[in-house]
Amino acid sequence: MTTQTPVAGVRAAVRRVPAYPFTPTNEPIKLDQNENPYDFPAELKTEALSRMAAREWNRYPDLHADELRRRIGAFEGWPEAGVVVTPGSNVLIKLLTELAGIGQTVLTVSPTFSVYTLEAQLLGARLVEVPLNADFSLPVEALKAELGRHEPGVLYITQPHAPTGVVDSLAAVRDLTEAAGDWVVVLDEAYHQYSGTDYRDLVRAGEGRLSLRTFSKAWGLAGLRLGYALTSPELATQLQKLVPAFNVNTLTQAALEVALEQPGYVQARVQEGVQERGRVLAALADHPTCRALPSQANFFLLRTPDAAAAYAHLRARGIVTRRQDSFPGLAGCLRIGIGTPAENDALIAAVTELR
Ligand SMILES: *Cc1c(COP(=O)(O)O)cnc(C)c1O
Repeated sequence: MTTQTPVAGVRAAVRRVPAYPFTPTNEPIKLDQNENPYDFPAELKTEALSRMAAREWNRYPDLHADELRRRIGAFEGWPEAGVVVTPGSNVLIKLLTELAGIGQTVLTVSPTFSVYTLEAQLLGARLVEVPLNADFSLPVEALKAELGRHEPGVLYITQPHAPTGVVDSLAAVRDLTEAAGDWVVVLDEAYHQYSGTDYRDLVRAGEGRLSLRTFSKAWGLAGLRLGYALTSPELATQLQKLVPAFNVNTLTQAALEVALEQPGYVQARVQEGVQERGRVLAALADHPTCRALPSQANFFLLRTPDAAAAYAHLRARGIVTRRQDSFPGLAGCLRIGIGTPAENDALIAAVTELR
């Protein structure tokens, strides 16, 4: 890489942050991004394409994707006025950090989903990270102490947690959200279909709480980019001010309407994913040197004696995974998505060869 002269006008906080670390690969078995291994069903794709063709591409889309928000509200049993949509929930994390983090505090755990910490650093918020407990559960008392130590900002909690796949007790999460007072509390539920957990009641119970959900995982629509927040109409109004106008394009809106009209395919896929997760973890349970850690999501951590060697071995077998060994507490760990049954068979065989 060439050394470039920094552009003086770029904020120091932006210059300091490294670019998002992701290297695309061409391996046939892609288990590195927690995607659904199956594409959108072919007949729904055909319907979505004809719906796209019928729209006027010369016109700006619905300003705040009102029709899509209405349909998501109907699907989730949530008032439309409390639904905010953006191209992926990653965008919502940026906007929530703008809403309640800049000039204030972003509180989360460590390790955690890298986007929370990345946005806090880019936007110049004070970042406070509390280490997870040794069993990866939420450090409830330590987080409560930090909530009391700083003026209100935004608290990010992921359930199931990423990258560990751990789900905490509802009592622990409720305890934390109740202690959070005037903080904005974000419950990121990107993988909730795989754990059967649902924090909508906690969001309804207090002000300043949001559930983040996405079409990128269980719905198998990561390529279309759509995520949403469920919250109170008051908080949605404030958050919506930060959403750029015409943010969700006409084609995505048309395709998502089709998915929400015929969501039946999701349940069968989630069931298969959960069953396959159990099968993979059981198959690796007696491994002599690696430990597959329990997970409630569509991925799991594999603790190996040497993450670099394990990653390279799996890649040589055509399987791409994600190294997590630079995170605190995750020495030796790879994060591995659950694939199709055939992909999982290949994974089991390749991990079995590891020593
Ligand atoms: C995958 C993921 C998301 C979803 O991101 P999108 O931008 O909606 O694709 C959100 N939070 C976590 C923790 C994730 O792992």
